Amino acid sequence: KVQVKDLHKSYGNNEVLQGINLNVAPNEVVCMIGPSGSGKSTFLRCLNRLEVPNSGHVYVDGYDIADPKVNINKVRENIGMVFQHFNLFPNMSVLENITLAPTQLGKASKEEAKRDAMHYLELVGLKSKADVTPQTLSGGQKQRVAIARALAMKPDVMLFDEPTSALDPEMVGDVLAVMKRLAKEGMTMIVVTHEMGFAKQMADRVVFFHDGNIREQGTPEKIFDHPQHPDTKNFLDKVL
Ligand code: ATP
Ligand code: MG
Repeated sequence: KVQVKDLHKSYGNNEVLQGINLNVAPNEVVCMIGPSGSGKSTFLRCLNRLEVPNSGHVYVDGYDIADPKVNINKVRENIGMVFQHFNLFPNMSVLENITLAPTQLGKASKEEAKRDAMHYLELVGLKSKADVTPQTLSGGQKQRVAIARALAMKPDVMLFDEPTSALDPEMVGDVLAVMKRLAKEGMTMIVVTHEMGFAKQMADRVVFFHDGNIREQGTPEKIFDHPQHPDTKNFLDKVL
């Protein structure tokens, strides 16, 4: 579903991604962990060309997203992304936030988009909030709306960049519960997270980033219980 080959990205002299290779299979949940500055966000942003890599290839559903002939906006429609900060449109209702892109991009009629939006709001537990504006919501609620908004595009892959790290602790569980549900329903997900419990429980594969490289990857048992690389051990000693 997602294939990354020898991806390099530099900012000036700072080589942030030093040749990343990663394949993500359909329905797979990949959790990416690693120290601050190790390149996790940059990597995710390269997957939908929010950052342009210096070299290497990213294939999504078989399309090379670096190919100028490929319509990147079409590819992006199939890649949902949820960030630490939710970036909801403040002057629109929750429902309008969710229906905007599918209707504007011609993916659904107004009626269909509305029906879908209510379905996804139900999935994230916020059906009753359809008509309010985002500023009346808690951080966790906003993040769940952001997830519903991404799902409304019916993406093939969902990317999450620390979706819970800006939330008050009591909000984290609700957002993780939505993500668990998605994972169980078979969504292909790449999740950058500090939530080691989520990674242990839900990841098919855990990928440890360090200094712009994938140092180690494997099942949660392998990475958390039997890490091989000293950098992995060192990181886990600090966070667990
Ligand atoms: P964190 O866990 O703190 O979110 P991260 O693993 O997501 O860290 P990145 O945000 O990918 O790390 O950053 C990797 C490196 O790239 C850092 O050294 C950062 O300073 C640098 N960097 C990221 N974005 C830019 C940019 N737009 N311009 C210059 N340098 C950048
Ligand atoms: Mg980051």
